[in-house]
Amino acid sequence: MSRLYRFSVIILTASLLGVFFWKSLLATQTRPERDLRERLVMAHKILAMEGLIGPFGHVSVRSTDKAKFFIARHESAIQISLEDVVEVDNNITPQLAKERDLYLEVFIHSSIYTRHPDINAVVHTHSPQAVALGTLRVPGNQIFPTTNPGANLGNFISIFPEVGLVRDPEKGFRIADALRAQNGILLRGHGAVVVGHSLEQAVLRAIYLEFEARTQMESRKAGEPVFYTTEESDLFKDTRAIEHAWHYYEEKARRDKN
Ligand SMILES: [Zn+2]
Repeated sequence: MSRLYRFSVIILTASLLGVFFWKSLLATQTRPERDLRERLVMAHKILAMEGLIGPFGHVSVRSTDKAKFFIARHESAIQISLEDVVEVDNNITPQLAKERDLYLEVFIHSSIYTRHPDINAVVHTHSPQAVALGTLRVPGNQIFPTTNPGANLGNFISIFPEVGLVRDPEKGFRIADALRAQNGILLRGHGAVVVGHSLEQAVLRAIYLEFEARTQMESRKAGEPVFYTTEESDLFKDTRAIEHAWHYYEEKARRDKN
């Protein structure tokens, strides 16, 4: 038996075992869990297509086990597939995060899931107009919405004043607390964090935030924007037509791929 032949047999056997192992792993996942992972992959595709995440930025969804969440391993958004999705404990430590090759800023997600039991999905973007909006000096460090999509973020959106990345749970908790029951927060000079009761809702709110930011940056240049009052923004408290909008973006992402 030639060396080359033996080498080929070893490689083939290892590949077949790898495929078998991966298929077995997928088969052991319960259906709701599998659905969550598949929708998380689609969420990455939609957010990347809309230019909200790219080499940086991430999205997660709470697991069926409430003390855990699903997030992709450290990869850029367009490369993420089902096998990159991992389940992480809400109390993940910096040491464990490093060992598991998770995003540096995974603590944005873990801290929000720990602090807010009603939140089931988190999106973190470095989307350009949201970054611009978060650089403004505004009273009380609060931005008020000027559009219907923007009002989906809540009555206002706070600007978290600390600059720099979120490398530890402590800073994650400060952001989680600063959310103040709203649906998003701007991180000064950095990006945005948007949350939802569902993955679909969080993804749509991330898209709506960038729309609001783009519109508001333009209107601030042109004149004095009129902000929604609390009563007006309350009209959009529950995002309408989540399913309809999600299907639109899902289909757009599928066509975009082909
Ligand atoms: Zn970031």
